[in-house]
Amino acid sequence: MGKSRINIAIDGHSSAGKSTLAKSLAKELNYVYIDTGAMYRAAALHAMRERSVMDAVVNEVGLRAGLDRMFLAFRYNPQTEQSEIHLNGVNVEKEIRSMEVASKVSLVARVPEVRQKLVAIQRRMAEAGGVVMDGRDIGTVVLPNAELKVFMTADPETRAYRRLNEMRENGKDVSYDEVLENVLERDRIDSARSVAPLRQAEDAVVVDNSDLTVEEQFNFLVSLARTRMEEDA
Ligand code: C5P
Repeated sequence: MGKSRINIAIDGHSSAGKSTLAKSLAKELNYVYIDTGAMYRAAALHAMRERSVMDAVVNEVGLRAGLDRMFLAFRYNPQTEQSEIHLNGVNVEKEIRSMEVASKVSLVARVPEVRQKLVAIQRRMAEAGGVVMDGRDIGTVVLPNAELKVFMTADPETRAYRRLNEMRENGKDVSYDEVLENVLERDRIDSARSVAPLRQAEDAVVVDNSDLTVEEQFNFLVSLARTRMEEDA
């Protein structure tokens, strides 16, 4: 029996290591990795540039009007060997990882029209199967029929510490407390919003990786994915 190209949804809390795992899983299976967080971050950057989000205040009318001027696309960068997010034709992969974008993104992501627009793009990208998509609502809303759903979490301190290291490696000058506060605040807003809140799909496999190495998680997920591919073929 041949193997089918399934879709894999990876959801979970902020900085739970979703993207690291999703990327390596996609590479191993020769699937396409889609970072939906990058899409929401690019939407937040667009809103910041258009001044429809300032400090902690969102001008929803302005934000909605600005969505028609927002074009998002992933393009492969042979240098990094990654698919990177482009906003209106310009690579913004680095810019969207700033603390400033992190502090606004959950406010922008809870606006229903933003989600509607991004979910439509995400569903189109997954139409042919063979996708590993990570985010907050992939297994519950975007791809409810995904053959494999994973919900990743870890305790907040572990997540903040990992994100801090990642940001420092990228030359960002941030403190642990600042990162921990942002991680907790995004979880709070993401879980409390009325449209597509962050929650675990009933049929998701839960991975609490507080005490698991990346390699252990990777091996577990690859074998899970291969089993689902066989079952689905
Ligand atoms: O995954 P990442 O931490 O980069 O996501 C940034 C933010 O984008 C999240 O905190 C959340 O507010 C939003 N997001 C979302 N739905 C997704 C992916 C991300 O609301 N599917």
